Amino acid sequence: MALKSGNSQVFIPSAGFEVMETDYWVYSDVIRKRSTVHTGRCPYCNKGRGFHHLVSGRTGGEWSGPFFTIEEANDFASGLESPVHLCTHCMKEIEQ
Ligand SMILES: [Zn+2]
Repeated sequence: MALKSGNSQVFIPSAGFEVMETDYWVYSDVIRKRSTVHTGRCPYCNKGRGFHHLVSGRTGGEWSGPFFTIEEANDFASGLESPVHLCTHCMKEIEQ
């Protein structure tokens, strides 16, 4: 099973490591003409590898990233011609 369910254990290395911040990815869907911002941890994003292996035959989108701040990702997405959405799956835990 590749999917993790929730927050079981989070290990934060204390020294000698640069703690990996959340990374952000922009998915441009050329079919639906919209762009969606995800975190790399999102199962729909999967660090830019996407979920197309779950939806066979579905293509037409493109991942851009990683971006290291949500502003960067938003900036990039705003430069595309499609309206920008935040992923309702992974972004709701980020919204303050
Ligand atoms: Zn997402």
